[in-house]
Amino acid sequence: MATAIWWVRRDFRIGDNPALVAAAAAGDVLPVFVLDDRLWQPAGDPRRAWLVGCLHWLRERTGGALVVRAGDPAEELVAVARRVGAATVVAAADYGPYGRERDDRVEEALGGVGVAFERHGTPWAVAPGVVTKADGTPFKVFTPYSRAWAARGWGRPLPAPDVRWATGHRGVAIPDAPAVDAELLPVGEDAALEQWRHFRDGALADYAEGRDRPDGEHTSRMSVYLKYGCTHPRTMLADLDARNRSAATYRSELCWRDFYADVLWHRPDSARRAFNPAMATMQLDTGPTAEARLAAWREGRTGYPIVDAGMRQLLAEAWVHNRVRMIVASFLVKDLHVDWTLGARWFMARLQDGELSSNNHGWQWVAGTGTDAAPYFRVFNPITQGRKFDPRGDYVRRFVPELRAVAGAAVHEPWSAPAGAPAGYPERIVDHAAERAEALRRYEDLRRSAAPATAPRR
Ligand code: FAD
Repeated sequence: MATAIWWVRRDFRIGDNPALVAAAAAGDVLPVFVLDDRLWQPAGDPRRAWLVGCLHWLRERTGGALVVRAGDPAEELVAVARRVGAATVVAAADYGPYGRERDDRVEEALGGVGVAFERHGTPWAVAPGVVTKADGTPFKVFTPYSRAWAARGWGRPLPAPDVRWATGHRGVAIPDAPAVDAELLPVGEDAALEQWRHFRDGALADYAEGRDRPDGEHTSRMSVYLKYGCTHPRTMLADLDARNRSAATYRSELCWRDFYADVLWHRPDSARRAFNPAMATMQLDTGPTAEARLAAWREGRTGYPIVDAGMRQLLAEAWVHNRVRMIVASFLVKDLHVDWTLGARWFMARLQDGELSSNNHGWQWVAGTGTDAAPYFRVFNPITQGRKFDPRGDYVRRFVPELRAVAGAAVHEPWSAPAGAPAGYPERIVDHAAERAEALRRYEDLRRSAAPATAPRR
């Protein structure tokens, strides 16, 4: 029987996998992963460690069939296809700025040696570019996108195919996983499905109320499994009854994931630059003071407890609760006046679930440079946010040991205690009220300079 290559990129699962189904229908399946420096180098250690874990998982799951190659994907796939006599290479479509360009090159190179490159399925519930406004232009606002997204819908999850793995082919060794201090979630499809069922049968019931609270286990922790395709959003959506409020809220979060992928697909430049060009000239702080503040933010030494807890959670768990991601991002951009791209880069280096579209557009949402219309005034107050979403202070005490002796919500303002903040906890590096005013002043300046000049009177 013919051999078909399943080119694995970020879809480490056997179930609900259209690319694998297509490969299995075409012949014996040879799973191939190409280690590409363009992706490996910029990935932080948590993501590298996750990828290595996924490769080991897949090698075991395929009875040793997985072939790992290293180098330029076009050259490597041509070489493997020739060696095994494959007529087809199948992969899930990639919509990222680099992945699109790479896949076009691979398609051309394979075509040159008479091998077909087929794309089946995507990492998204609804692929980028599929949902558009009536006039065919892309949505820039989430709510109408989400309506069109739900109306478009998605198929049922596909059962795992019967696969005959093409074993006995060799590649290079799976690289060593870098040492990572952070606690990473267990890899693999079984772990993903177990995590999903645990959430679906438990915390999902209170998700609508609980999802903003970082002080408990209220969210699904599925982001890293979606990032590596250990399960597909379709599998999760099939379990969600949108008539139930919490299930509908959860579904809407999955829609945000698709929305940002869609935005990035239409505007690949927005991975690195402001989506809204009018915001690109915002006055930012640079130089030694800004750099020292950026370092304090990264290390969780800003003197604002919820910010420090979030940044230390990032170091400890390579994951941060969504509400806290917004709070720490707002602090960097609006209190420290540092370019959002530096924060986004730090997140991508430290997160296990680092996803270019969700991360960089999550940052742009906070920075007011993205798709949202009037967000710049939304300056998160770290004290009131802490009191509201971590009302007993448990989240802060968990990640900031210097504050463990401070009881209850007082932990959000340790400097207000009669004896001051506990020894060892840093002083506040800036004054929030003053910096908020400064952020708004800069925005006002930008708005004025961008306003069209009034027509001269005759
Ligand atoms: P749940 O609350 O259980 O949500 C379920 C799923 O919905 C998530 O796994 C995720 O796939 C999706 N989702 C939820 N919220 C969002 C959102 N705002 N945008 C897009 N998708 C969402 N998410 C990433 O997956 N990777 C990132 O690199 C990333 N960076 C972010 C950076 C910033 C500044 C902000 C504000 C948000 C970022 N998010 C990112 C979105 C969100 O914070 C995480 O998806 C979420 O915290 C993951 O935890 P969970 O799986 O328990 O979420």
